[in-house]
Amino acid sequence: MAKQQSYDVVSDFIDFLNASPTAFHAVDEAKKRLKSAGFQQLSERELWDLQPGHKYFFTRNHSTVVAFAVGKKYVAGNGFYIIGAHTDSPCLKLKPVSKVVKGGILEVGVQIYGGGLWHTWFDRDLTVAGRVIVREENAGSVSYSHHLVRIEEPIMRIPTLAIHLDKTVSSDGFKFNNETHLIPILATSLKGELNKLSSENGPVENGNQTDGNKAIDKTGTTNTKHHLLLLQLLASKLGCEPDDIYDFELQACDTQPSTVGGAAREFIFSGRLDNLCMSFCSLKALIDATSSESSLEEETGVRMVALFDHEEVGSASAQGAGSPVMLNAVTRVTNTFGTNPNLLEKAAQRSYLVSADMAHALHPNYMEKHEVNHQPKLHGGLVIKNNANQRYATNAVTSFYFREIATKHNLPVQDFVVRNDMSCGSTIGPILASGVGIRTVDVGAPQLSMHSIREICAVDDVKYSYEHFKAFYQEFSHLDGKMVVDI
Ligand SMILES: [Zn+2]
Repeated sequence: MAKQQSYDVVSDFIDFLNASPTAFHAVDEAKKRLKSAGFQQLSERELWDLQPGHKYFFTRNHSTVVAFAVGKKYVAGNGFYIIGAHTDSPCLKLKPVSKVVKGGILEVGVQIYGGGLWHTWFDRDLTVAGRVIVREENAGSVSYSHHLVRIEEPIMRIPTLAIHLDKTVSSDGFKFNNETHLIPILATSLKGELNKLSSENGPVENGNQTDGNKAIDKTGTTNTKHHLLLLQLLASKLGCEPDDIYDFELQACDTQPSTVGGAAREFIFSGRLDNLCMSFCSLKALIDATSSESSLEEETGVRMVALFDHEEVGSASAQGAGSPVMLNAVTRVTNTFGTNPNLLEKAAQRSYLVSADMAHALHPNYMEKHEVNHQPKLHGGLVIKNNANQRYATNAVTSFYFREIATKHNLPVQDFVVRNDMSCGSTIGPILASGVGIRTVDVGAPQLSMHSIREICAVDDVKYSYEHFKAFYQEFSHLDGKMVVDI
């Protein structure tokens, strides 16, 4: 029974992963799930009309999503019980001018996004996905619309250099230049010519890119900057002409689907586990903790999930955790239900935030990289992250509440602190804690190969995380006040 439930959550997670090659797609998938669970979409561009016992969400830039359910006993000034995670992962994003032709090969120029293990992107079957701005013309009037796009087929690859041409690779390790070697190939010029494409692409030799201004196309922007072959593939997906693609934000993606693996079928092999795993578990927990008629009957607070873009690059954007997006949501909800100017500060001090981002499991081949008393294990449950220098926002009080939920539900938790001779990562926890002033605990499920194109986590940890988060939403309003620190 327990095992069956574990696989139900896991197979749902695999579906979520496979639907989410980019942050835009992850938000789109979240949106679909929220809508079908009865969450009503709000616009940040309008005033909100909210009711106790109802559920809402909004997106910002289509790469950040905030969803919340208002308790039936909620009054303005009460707390928000929030789980925050992030939708983005390290990847290769197409350059504004991506057309490169070298040695008779059409290549696609990319820039690195975040701190990826870029060597893992070599020799993978890649494609592209992201968002496109499409020009539409109707009865002489021109408009522009925003579409998500994804090519399923493996259309690109970054080939490694054969060992015969670089004998030092065995002795010195695999070294490469992010600018000159990390460029996916799309096609040969030869096949492009056979398709009558190369003349329009205008081959450029010796690595020079076109200046983007030589040819005038219908939109005057995109077509001279990117290979027509790529634009044709995108256009056929979008049902438009290549000339109608005004601009885009695309990234290279692995085409290999996420899967359960391992001899005991206990692992999940996938890209983007950091941090779609915590995004999925928190989103599903909120949906399931607010699904029945009675679930919000006794709730005095607001249950919220906030999935942010741009964590991998420091969160400083209009929709990242460094922006006021979450505070805006808390402020708006509070102000909708009350007019006293101090309600927001009261609400902030009654709120609690779980910052959920993946953690490093103990690697059997690099045991020395973990502090001896803090070695999170796969299937060991959520990891509570601690750092005296506030790279994580956890303290004894905030972790107390999180552990209490685990104890009550017989869920395992683990502790992590980095070795003193190593630098510590960070996440959205300290950014939100210092920006909004909410009590915060930093947690995450353990994983291996973080920031590789193909990562590993364990199926039981997905189940534990989901159950832990669901119990948090269901019970925090009763639990709060169990420990009084500030009166
Ligand atoms: Zn992360």
